[in-house]
This record gives sequence, C-alpha cells and structure tokens, in this order.
Amino acid sequence: MGVPTHMRHDLLFQFHDSPWAFHPGYTKTLKTILQKYYFPGITSFVRNYVASCKVCASHKNVSNLKPGFIQPIKSSSIMDTLIADILGPFVLLDSSQRPHKFYIHYCGQLL
Ligand SMILES: [Zn+2]
Repeated sequence: MGVPTHMRHDLLFQFHDSPWAFHPGYTKTLKTILQKYYFPGITSFVRNYVASCKVCASHKNVSNLKPGFIQPIKSSSIMDTLIADILGPFVLLDSSQRPHKFYIHYCGQLL
C-alpha cells in the first residue's frame, strides 16, 4: 500500500515511537513497515527517522564501537598533569546528607 507524503511521518511514529512499537532499530522498523506499506525513498526515510530519534539516542547502546583501551599518561615532572573526573548526576534523596548533584574530583599526577 502506498503512503502519501503527508502521512509518512505519522506512519513512522506508529511503527517506531508508539508504546506498542517500543523503538525498534532501523532494520526491524523498516521490515515491519514493508510488510504493508511502501513509498519511494522509504529506506532512507526510515533510516533518517530512526537515526534522529531522541529516545533511541539517549537509551540505546552503540554496539558497533570497539571498547577503548586505557593508556598510561606520561608526565615529565610531579603535578604537571591534572586529572579530573565528573561524577553524577546523583539523585538527591535528602539534601542534608548529599547537598550536591555532581562531584568533580581533581588529582595531580605523580611520576
Ligand atoms: Zn526511537
């Protein structure tokens, strides 16, 4: 079944964003839609739609990236390198026990 241009976004919403769709990836979204619908440029339309989904971007892991390796940081003298970690956000259960939502930890590197 063909899909008019003005209905394509709504179609993608139903097959990707609706509560019963549960944000499937590009391949599954396209495969499900192609069972009943078609329009010219459907593959790139679905790919762009899924790639621009903010819910998917914030909740799904990127599985095609290789894990990084920890590399030593070389320094020439004591305290010439400053290392910082940012921790958080923490859920503020009781502001009297943990008054900060984020912590920044700085550490000078020894040789
Ligand atoms: Zn999504």
